Amino acid sequence: MGNIIDGKILAAKIKEEIREHVKGLKIKPGLAVIQVGEDPASKVYVGGKEKDAQEVGFLSEIHRLGADTAQETVIALVKKLNERKEINGILVQLPLPEHLNEELITNTIDPLKDVDGFTYNSAGRLLTGSKCLAACTPSGCIEMIKSTGCEIKGKNAVVIGRSNIVGKPMAILLLQENATVTICHSRTVDLPSITSKADILVAAIGRPKFVKADMVKQGAVVIDVGMNRDENGKLCGDVDFENVKEKTSFITPVPGGVGLMTRAMLMKNTLEAYKMQGIK
Ligand code: NAP
Repeated sequence: MGNIIDGKILAAKIKEEIREHVKGLKIKPGLAVIQVGEDPASKVYVGGKEKDAQEVGFLSEIHRLGADTAQETVIALVKKLNERKEINGILVQLPLPEHLNEELITNTIDPLKDVDGFTYNSAGRLLTGSKCLAACTPSGCIEMIKSTGCEIKGKNAVVIGRSNIVGKPMAILLLQENATVTICHSRTVDLPSITSKADILVAAIGRPKFVKADMVKQGAVVIDVGMNRDENGKLCGDVDFENVKEKTSFITPVPGGVGLMTRAMLMKNTLEAYKMQGIK
């Protein structure tokens, strides 16, 4: 009981496959990341994306703009990147400074280059089952569940959280895999009675160690998306890992779990975007 789904190993495998594929390409896939301002967490995330892109052999461009950059300037940059043939994927690192309209800027990205899967076009396509670039974190979670060898089809899957970037797309992807899906949120009544029936439980809440052992079904697959700090400032997930793990068949750790897979899926989406744009 309590097998660990190792995000480090899985992510390395995915990146190695991409690297091998890219080696054989005459024109390399290109990823452009836009960072506005000096948010410390964003800096770390953008640095990680740059490192990953270089590792797999992509053309990597980071556009760092000052915190007071005007909205029209950011939009003009996105439009320019939309036009450039050597750029296959565009990502605007969130959150943006308050004076910028995230919704407008994100939706300026060409859906064919929307490697974060955050545009309305991508979200709508995901919902209707059309070909699209799906959000990286939920896609990574699906890969992690599949890596266990447990079949998703017909399983009772419960997602805690309904954000546009994790909870909702996660539920849609599980539905596409033919699970029976329940979405829970802060107004859900008697959450433990629902989560304790889940064969697959995905926690995307943002509350440290929120999911306790009595909320988990014996033998469940538990995916922890949360990235929080505990009372000692240590990184931890939404699941009370130490107490829950023995009850599960498989569980993801934090750190070393979903976060690394999210990064790998961004590389996968960039390669996918390159293929969708018809570049051989
Ligand atoms: P979010 O937008 O704040 O959404 C949190 C969701 O949890 C909401 O739907 C909220 O319900 C629900 N929730 C809050 N308290 C609850 C409670 N007591 N019972 C049941 N549901 C509750 O957060 P997010 O962006 O989805 O992120 C969730 C977590 O994942 C965060 O820790 C974030 O840092 C992490 N994350 C990790 C990655 C990664 O790569 N590993 C990527 C993205 C996010 P309501 O809708 O009713 O408010």
